[in-house]
Formats: sequence, structure tokens, C-alpha cells
Amino acid sequence: DKGLEKSKSSIFDKLSRVIVGKSKVDEEILDELEEILISSDVGVETTLKIIKRIEARVERDKFTNTSELDTILREEVAALLAENNSQDVQNSFETANLPKPYVLMVVGVNGVGKTTTIGKLAYNFQKNGKKVVLGAADTFRAAAVDQLKLWGERVGVVVIDHGMNTDPSSVAYDAIKAGIEQNADVIIIDTAGRLHTKVNLMNELGKIKRVMQKILPEAPHEVMLVLDGSTGQNAVIQAREFTKVTEISSLAVTKLDGTAKGGVVIGISDEFKIPVKYIGVGEKMEDLQVFNKMAFVETLFN
Ligand code: GDP
Repeated sequence: DKGLEKSKSSIFDKLSRVIVGKSKVDEEILDELEEILISSDVGVETTLKIIKRIEARVERDKFTNTSELDTILREEVAALLAENNSQDVQNSFETANLPKPYVLMVVGVNGVGKTTTIGKLAYNFQKNGKKVVLGAADTFRAAAVDQLKLWGERVGVVVIDHGMNTDPSSVAYDAIKAGIEQNADVIIIDTAGRLHTKVNLMNELGKIKRVMQKILPEAPHEVMLVLDGSTGQNAVIQAREFTKVTEISSLAVTKLDGTAKGGVVIGISDEFKIPVKYIGVGEKMEDLQVFNKMAFVETLFN
């Protein structure tokens, strides 16, 4: 797991610096731990929740050794993640139990890694023997369509597009149509993410959904929000905004390779109760991992 290396050293290194030379967990250590978690972008509310749980355990066990703090922290974070990610098993690139075609609509603001994540998803589904069709419905961001087409070529999947500045819902319609005709397992629809025009975005996403439903009434089966994990609290703010605009069923958190802020995943998962399905750990098509809460906690704290 080369990708999470930096997030990994961060929380643990800071914690080991705090407990060095101290044998028992005390108020001061917990205060420092609180600061570490907040500075690691876990978020204030979630941090307080974790600290409270640890305090309760320290209270119960009276003289908790500092050497156990790491384990306790890991257990409590894992428990917290488990509450919102109970379905790790389903978060794979298998589609055996999914409706066919499975329509995944992807949302997120420009620059978070939306197109890259779609390319990586296409690669992974394809690798698992699934037929994938992509819909280039981000017709607004300059070069978004070309970029998706490039990914399509690279991975070897069909991309439906009408060029730039065309009607996104019409692209989505045609992508579903092509997906059905070509017997696709997964249809992934890229969308524009202009958050500064919230009402417009809401209308646009709503329209895309309605038009897709004309051809496939149950579409989209999943709406995935892509967040840039390296932007810390900005990612949290974006999640808040998007959940107001449309129903979000899953999250992909990108750029966890280039940051010491992997902690943001814990806060986001806790605040939004939306499962984190994938994490991006690089720019290449192999650099997408199915989110596994235990593995994630291990790399963060080990
Ligand atoms: P979009 O505007 O949301 O579609 O963003 P792009 O997919 O174009 O990605 C923006 C930039 O982030 C590109 O340079 C990508 O290569 C890069 N990127 C995307 N995901 C990751 C990731 O997981 N790790 C790293 N290091 N870079 C990423």
C-alpha cells in the first residue's frame, strides 16, 4: 500500500511523539491526541466523539498504559468506520448481485479527480470481465469530454459523447441506450459539478436523472460523489453542499497518496453516514482501491 504511506506516518508519528517518556494515559495526552486528530482533518465533532470513547475506556480501565493507546485508538476508529461502512463486501468490482445494466452516476466539483476515478473504475470493471459504457455528460468543463474519451481509449471501453456544451441529459440518455443495446454490465455517467450555481446544478442533475429514467426507470442505481482527500475540510464542505443538492449513495475519496490528511475519510464517513467505496492513491488506472475499513485503519495507525 505505497499510496497511503504519508497519511500513515502522520497520525502515528505525532502520537508516538506525545506519549514518549510517559507511561500512563492522562488528560494531557488525550488533549494532545484531540489536537492531532483535528489537525489530521478528522473533523471536530468526530474527533470529540472518538476522544469521548477513549476517555470512557481509560476511565473504566483506570491506569491505561500509553502503549495501549494506539490499539484503543485504532479499535475506536475502526468501530466508528464500521457503523457507516457495514457493507465492505459489496464494495468490489464484481457485479454479480447488481442489476444489469448497473447505472452509476458520478458527481463532484472540477479538479477532484472525477474523470480519473471514472477511468479507473472502467479499468477495474473491465478487468473483472464486465462490459462498461461511459457517458461523457460533463459537457461544461473544458476538455472533460476529450479527457474521458482518452480514458475510454486507454482502457478500451466505449464512450458516448456529443461534444462540449451539449445537453448532458441527452448524452446520458444515449449512453443508457447504447449500454442496453450493447449488453453492458455497467454504465458510468460523468456529470458537470458547478457548485457555485447550486440551483442550476440541482436542476441539471435532476434533469439527467429524469431523462435517463425514460429509458431505464430504475436509473441511476447509484450516485457517487468524488471528493479530493487532500483538500481536508474543503472536501467536507463539498460533501455538505452536494448532499443538499442530490441524494448521494456512495463516496470515492481521491489523492490519498499525496497527503498527510487521510483522516478526512473518518470525519466524512461519520458525518454523512454514506459508505466510502473507493480511495484514489495515484494518477494511474491501477491506483484505485476498494475501501476496506480495517486495512485503512491499519495503514493510518500502524
Ligand atoms: P476532474 O476535474 O474532477 O474530472 O479531475 P481529473 O480527473 O481531471 O483530475 C484532476 C487531477 O488530479 C489530474 O491531474 C489527475 O491525474 C489527478 N488525480 C486524480 N485522482 C488522483 C489520485 O488519487 N491521486 C493523485 N495523486 N492524483 C490524482
